[in-house]
Amino acid sequence: MTDPPTPNSERPKKPDAEGYLPVRLMQEDNANELKQIFRVQRVPADEWKPLFRSVFYAVSPKGSAEQRVGQDPLAPEQARALKASLAFQEYRIANVITNLRIKDASAELRKLTVDEKQSIYDQLVSPSSEDITWSDLCDFLGFKRSQLKGVGSLTEDGEERISSRPPRLTSVQRIYESDNKIRKPLVAWWKSASDNEHEAMIRLLSNTVDIDKVREDVAYASAIEFIDGLDDDALTKLDSVDLPSGRAAYSVETLQKLTRQMLTTDDDLHEARKTLFNVTDSWRPPADPIGEPLGNPSVDRVLKNVNRYLMNCQQRWGNPVSVNIEHVRSSFSSVAFARKDKREYEKNNEKRSIFRSSLSEQLRADEQMEKVRESDLRRLEAIQRQNGQCLYCGRTITFRTCEMDHIVPRKGVGSTNTRTNFAAVCAECNRMKSNTPFAIWARSEDAQTRGVSLAEAKKRVTMFTFNPKSYAPREVKAFKQAVIARLQQTEDDAAIDNRSIESVAWMADELHRRIDWYFNAKQYVNSASIDDAEAETMKTTVSVFQGRVTASARRAAGIEGKIHFIGQQSKTRLDRRHHAVDASVIAMMNTAAAQTLMERESLRESQRLIGLMPGERSWKEYPYEGTSRYESFHLWLDNMDVLLELLNDALDNDRIAVMQSQRYVLGNSIAHDATIHPLEKVPLGSAMSADLIRRASTPALWCALTRLPDYDEKEGLPEDSHREIRVHDTRYSADDEMGFFASQAAQIAVQEGSADIGSAIHHARVYRCWKTNAKGVRKYF
Ligand SMILES: [Zn+2]
Repeated sequence: MTDPPTPNSERPKKPDAEGYLPVRLMQEDNANELKQIFRVQRVPADEWKPLFRSVFYAVSPKGSAEQRVGQDPLAPEQARALKASLAFQEYRIANVITNLRIKDASAELRKLTVDEKQSIYDQLVSPSSEDITWSDLCDFLGFKRSQLKGVGSLTEDGEERISSRPPRLTSVQRIYESDNKIRKPLVAWWKSASDNEHEAMIRLLSNTVDIDKVREDVAYASAIEFIDGLDDDALTKLDSVDLPSGRAAYSVETLQKLTRQMLTTDDDLHEARKTLFNVTDSWRPPADPIGEPLGNPSVDRVLKNVNRYLMNCQQRWGNPVSVNIEHVRSSFSSVAFARKDKREYEKNNEKRSIFRSSLSEQLRADEQMEKVRESDLRRLEAIQRQNGQCLYCGRTITFRTCEMDHIVPRKGVGSTNTRTNFAAVCAECNRMKSNTPFAIWARSEDAQTRGVSLAEAKKRVTMFTFNPKSYAPREVKAFKQAVIARLQQTEDDAAIDNRSIESVAWMADELHRRIDWYFNAKQYVNSASIDDAEAETMKTTVSVFQGRVTASARRAAGIEGKIHFIGQQSKTRLDRRHHAVDASVIAMMNTAAAQTLMERESLRESQRLIGLMPGERSWKEYPYEGTSRYESFHLWLDNMDVLLELLNDALDNDRIAVMQSQRYVLGNSIAHDATIHPLEKVPLGSAMSADLIRRASTPALWCALTRLPDYDEKEGLPEDSHREIRVHDTRYSADDEMGFFASQAAQIAVQEGSADIGSAIHHARVYRCWKTNAKGVRKYF
C-alpha cells in the first residue's frame, strides 16, 4: 500500500499531462482536503485516484492549450495570436482609432485623417506607463474633447467597446510596472530586444509555450538567455507579471496586415478586411463557444450555466427568436469584489444620510416645513453650495425664490439627472434659458444684457462651498470639474438610446457576441448563399439588458403589487419562485419597450427632484397618447397583463417548481443518522482509559486531556481528585462531568449528544484511526 502523496505535489510536471485542477479554481481547497483525508485514512492509490479524477476532471490549461488554439479564419493555416501579443494590442489601438469620429465646424462627423491616425497611434504605442486620456489626445490634435465622438460605443465590427481610457500596449505597460526585484533588468532587456524577441518573451511569460521545447528555436534564444540568468526569487517575480489572457480572432500576420491597412489608408477595420481578404460585407470573425471558460471561477460558472440552458432550449424547441439576458451590475465580478463594492456604497450612503437629516432639520426649523421632500433637500443643498447666488447671473436667491434647472437638457424625453447637471437659479434666468444648454443661452443678447456670462458662471463654480461631512476633497474637485464641463457644453445630451438600455460591461459584450455567433454564424460566414428574406427568419436577436430595465418593467406592469407570492403580495426574495417571475419579465422585454421604460424613469427622477417643468405632464402618463411610442408601449403593457395572469395561475396551482442542483450543497444531504446518542458523562477526577479519551466530545477537550503530565498514550489517565483543566477559558475541576461520545463509530457532535455519521458523506477531519491485525490486536496511527 503506498501513501497518496501530500497535497500540492500532484501538479502535473509534464505540460501534456492532465492536471487535476487549474490553479485558480476555487475547488482546489476541496481537492486538497480530500487528498488529505485519503492520505490519513490510507486509501489505496488505485482506489482513490480514479475516483478523484472523475470528480475533479480537468485538463491542464498550460499543457494542451497550444494544440487546441483555433485557426485564423482569414488565414486558416495560422494559429490565432495571443491577446498578450503586441501585434494584437497594436491592432486594437488602430481599430479603435478608425472608429473615432470628429465633429467639425460643419457639424458633420468625419473620420480621422491618415496623418491624425498615425500621430495619435504613435502616442498610444509609446512604451511609457504614463496615463493618456482622450482629452490629452484631443489637445494633441487641436480639438475640444466634446468634438470627439465614439467613446463608449462598440467598434463597427462589434468586437471592441471603446472605453473611457484610450487603449495602450498593455503587455508593455505591465512589464514596465513589474515588481522592483525584476523591473530594472527586464526593462533593460526589453529596450535592447527586437520586435520578434519581444513577442517570444510574451509567449513565454503567458505560459503558452513550453520553454524546454523551444530551447533550440533561435527566436527564443535571447528571452531564454535572460530567464536562465535569473535566480529563483526573480523568477517568481517574473512569473507574476500579469499579461492579458485569451486569444485574438486572428493570427499575428493577419493582425499586422490589418493594422498597416488601417493606419496607412482611409479604411476602418471593416473596409480593411474587405480590401485585404475579399470577405463579404456581413462577414465577422467567429466568436468563442458560449461556455468557453475565461479563468475566473464566478464568470465561468455563469458561462457554463448560460450555455447549458441555451443548448437545452435549442434541443427542445430549435433556434430561439430572441435571447434576452439581464445583466446585474455585480454578477460578473467576484463575490469578494461585490461585497467590497456594497460596503463602500453603504459607507457613502451613511455619510450622506447624516448630512441629509441635518439639512432636513434645518428646513423644518427655518422654513416651518412639515414634510420635507427629496426635491427640497436637493434645492437647499444647491443653494448652500452656490453661496446663495443664482449660478447663471449671480443674483441672490433663497430657498423660497429659487428654481432648479438642468444645465444641459437632453434630446427627447427626460434630462440627465446627475447632481452635477442641476443648478439653483433665479426664476427669471430659468424662464429665459428655457430648454437650451447654458453655453448656448449665455451667448444670446438677452442673457448678456442680464449680465450672464460663461466666464462668470465658471468663476462661481470655483467658489462653491461643500459641507466637508458630505464630500471628500477629491470628490469636491471632481464635482467642480463636472459642473464646469456642463456649463461649457453646447449641445443637448444625447437622447436615451441602446447604450443606456444594454449593459456595456465587457462580459456582457462578450456573452452577447458569443451567443449571437452561435445562432447566427451562418449569415456571417456564407451570407451569399442566403437570401434576405430567409436571413430575416433565421436571425436570433440577442440583447443583454441592464438590471434596472427589468426592475422598471416589473413596476410599470404592476407585477410588484399583484403577484401571488407566498406571504405577501409583492416580490419577496424569500419565495424562490421570484427567479421564474424575473426570467419571464426579461423574456417579454424588447428594445422599444426598454427604451420607453428608461425614458419614463428619467422623467420620473427629474420630476421627483425638480418638479414639473412648465407645460410638462406627469411621468405616469408617459408615453403620451397620440405619440408614436404610445401604441407599442400599451401593447407591451397588455402582454404583461396576460403574463401576470399566467404567472399567478401557475403560482396558485403550484406549477412553478423550485429545483436545486444535485451537487453536494448544504441542505440537500443528510449530515448524520437520525439517532442521537446521549454523551457519556465522566467526572474529570476519575481514571480514564485511553479509549475513552479518544472519544472526547470536542477537539479542545481531547487536547486538554492529552496534554496533562500524567497522560499516557496506552493507559490514559489515572484517578486524581485534584485534577483541573481549562477548555476554552473555562476551568473544570475533578468533580465536573466531562462529555464523551458513547459510540465507537464515527461521530458528529450535535446538540445534547452525538450521532453516527453513518452513510452520509461529510466534511470531516480524522484525528486518529486504528487497524485490527490478524491476531485481533488494534494498531493505532
Ligand atoms: Zn439668475
